[in-house]
Amino acid sequence: MNPIEVIPLRAFSDNYIWTLRDSTHAAVVDPGDAKPVLQYLRAERLELVAILNTHHHPDHIGGNAELLKHYRVPVYGPHDDRIHEVTHRLKDGERISVPHFGTEFEVFEIPGHTRTHIAFYGGKMLFSGDTLFAVGCGKLFEGTPQQMFDSLSRLMQLPDDTRVYCGHEYTLSNIRFARAADPDNAALRELEAKAAKLRELGQPTLPSSIGQERATNPFVRCTEPAIVRSASAKAGKKLDTPVAVLGAIREWKNQF
Ligand code: ZN
Ligand code: FE
Repeated sequence: MNPIEVIPLRAFSDNYIWTLRDSTHAAVVDPGDAKPVLQYLRAERLELVAILNTHHHPDHIGGNAELLKHYRVPVYGPHDDRIHEVTHRLKDGERISVPHFGTEFEVFEIPGHTRTHIAFYGGKMLFSGDTLFAVGCGKLFEGTPQQMFDSLSRLMQLPDDTRVYCGHEYTLSNIRFARAADPDNAALRELEAKAAKLRELGQPTLPSSIGQERATNPFVRCTEPAIVRSASAKAGKKLDTPVAVLGAIREWKNQF
């Protein structure tokens, strides 16, 4: 089989539809819009073999139905009735093998952004949806700081060289906040320069890696003294658990 590439297709203002492809076939993660996918498949003469969904938000599933009109393919997603098109509802620890590619993904249930959010992990790739972003995490629409803390901690167990494909291009604005929360972090300054250059060229800043997130993402660094200090200052009280720190910096970022 020929080599597999992972291509970002842009949707809406800042979504990425991550597309696994070789020279003949493709699978898409979180097709919020069918149009860019159909255009790409036609232009590249690729046949769609699967759809993967991380969570039920419209900007991640909105293209499912239209794509299914053109291709009869399995749709892998969480146990959540709000995504009607899912054909294979997945639980934590289950494995799927993407048709044609044979790439195996393990499913992680990672609640926090939504109640039923999942991630797909395999082949040194992590599709993290809106739970883990480069230098950030998703808003807690249906979850608690404890859930987000547990979900992120779990992802941080993965090897440092795992590539992280997340749902949005939020890196630069996330870095701006992270520099306020973690002001002396040199890795953050370096990443900011690199990411700014990429954005000037119109390039994605993604994928990130687990190693990069461990070095730069304040939401997975809630035990770092500098972050505990700035979060406590912001909250006006001494925060003595990492979960409390995560909750405080999530609130802080919501208003940043
Ligand atoms: Zn979302
Ligand atoms: Fe989203």
